Amino acid sequence: MVSRVNNVPPLDLTQQYAQIGDEIGAAVQKVLASGGYIGGPAVKSFEQEFANYTGVSDCVGCNSGTDALILALRALKIGPGDEVITTPFTFFASAETISAVGATPVFVDIDSGTFNLDVELLEAAITDKTKAIMPVHIFGQPTDMTRLMEIATKHNLAVIEDCAQAVGAEWESRKVGSIGHVGCFSFYPTKNLGACGDGGAVTTNDRALAASMRMLKEHGQSSRYFYEEIGYNSRLDALQAVILSIKLRYLDSWNSQRREKAAVYSEFLSRVPGVAVPKELPAAKPVWNQYTIRLTSQDTIRLISQAEAPNPSGNFRDSMRTKLQESGIGSMVYYPLPLHLQPVYKSLGYQVGQLPVAEQVCGEVLSLPMFPELSRDQQERAIYGLKDCLTKG
Ligand SMILES: *Cc1c(COP(=O)(O)O)cnc(C)c1O
Repeated sequence: MVSRVNNVPPLDLTQQYAQIGDEIGAAVQKVLASGGYIGGPAVKSFEQEFANYTGVSDCVGCNSGTDALILALRALKIGPGDEVITTPFTFFASAETISAVGATPVFVDIDSGTFNLDVELLEAAITDKTKAIMPVHIFGQPTDMTRLMEIATKHNLAVIEDCAQAVGAEWESRKVGSIGHVGCFSFYPTKNLGACGDGGAVTTNDRALAASMRMLKEHGQSSRYFYEEIGYNSRLDALQAVILSIKLRYLDSWNSQRREKAAVYSEFLSRVPGVAVPKELPAAKPVWNQYTIRLTSQDTIRLISQAEAPNPSGNFRDSMRTKLQESGIGSMVYYPLPLHLQPVYKSLGYQVGQLPVAEQVCGEVLSLPMFPELSRDQQERAIYGLKDCLTKG
């Protein structure tokens, strides 16, 4: 068999490095020569720059987006007996962290156009155990934060924004991560602001919460060798901080390049039968960590409704993905199985059919090649390749 070159990769981080590698190399050398590798001025400046960028008073760097969520939950005193409402259509860490602090994730169905929490379903899920809502701005598309904050305020709930995929995105001209009580960011290399390793941050306008998260990420230490809580070792490295400071200066231009690619995809693909392009709400300025379509052929729907549980392999979407791959076009499936039906959450007692939109969407979604440097030629090949696969079936 001839091995095929992946002509259009779903993601390519090498081009960004080629663009700013010299700048990064020089900054990294400086940190290496300084002998200060943990904390120090590099981390402090990045935290300040990121707080300014996001439009909040405080930013605390930490080890990952997952840790950012844990720090937020812990600082808000969420634990055993508490419920946190979130979306079933997200990366596992959103719900995993709720479970990790001893609380229970409560899943609410999504909107099939934006893939985000259907905010109109939120109130029905609130109980006397509910402590917080965790919206996830999935794929870089902001959740309706106006409606969500209204509901949270009315019921006195904390709001933890999972901004891992949405750094720089705006809702009504405000950056995500500055609207809820805490914003949680990941600097995993494939996110829009990616480190060269793991990294994360929390943002808030609440000084006391910031102090609590700062303490928790450093073993719960209030002053040197005095401990007030059981915390974590979750620091952002100085090396990652200098890299992030450099990349932050390019973030807006990279995000606008992503928006241009998304507009091209939507323009072409909205006219293709059997394809649903993502919906953009008028108040939203998305940043397209992923550009995700739904393949809505009858076939896909039939196969999913027939299944006892959503079948992660072998439906129409999966066969299209294989065909695309054979013609050299990479794509990804985020996410094949909603979180409420994951084996690990069997004990929560969710049934197939309970969150029908998320379940159906998991069988239909396909994320197309998306990165700022994606060329027009590559993008056209992806678009025409997809059209081709769909017409040939
Ligand atoms: C990436 C991601 C996380 C976790 O971030 P890490 O830095 O990988 O720990 C959390 N939530 C969402 C939605 C993500 O995409």
